[in-house]
Amino acid sequence: MLKLRPRKKIDPNKIPKRSKPEKACCAFCRHKIKRAQPNPQVAGALTGTCSNCDATFIDDCNGKLGGEAFVVGLTLLADDQEQAMTLREGFDYEQRAICYDGRSHQVEFERDPRPYGVGRMWFFRKLEV
Ligand SMILES: [Zn+2]
Repeated sequence: MLKLRPRKKIDPNKIPKRSKPEKACCAFCRHKIKRAQPNPQVAGALTGTCSNCDATFIDDCNGKLGGEAFVVGLTLLADDQEQAMTLREGFDYEQRAICYDGRSHQVEFERDPRPYGVGRMWFFRKLEV
């Protein structure tokens, strides 16, 4: 005869969080953002600004920018290239990257955006001095 084992009780708090894509939004304030646009200040880069907190974002939907995103981000934060090189993370600005899918214009906060080739959006925001 078939014996049914009692079902294991599942604690809903112990289920690992599934990564859920959501509409692209700001990494700092979660305000919805529009698609990044070509920026005449930095050739080849797609950038945008959060209308709520003024964070600058850079589209890296192929996940290949890496350090380049920093150069672009800091250049946009600073008044000129020279000042850009003196900005210190945690003092002058804060930085975050989140997974981003350029086709669906969605982000995933739970996924690790660091591996090379993972589509991501870089966010830079000036800190008040
Ligand atoms: Zn924002």
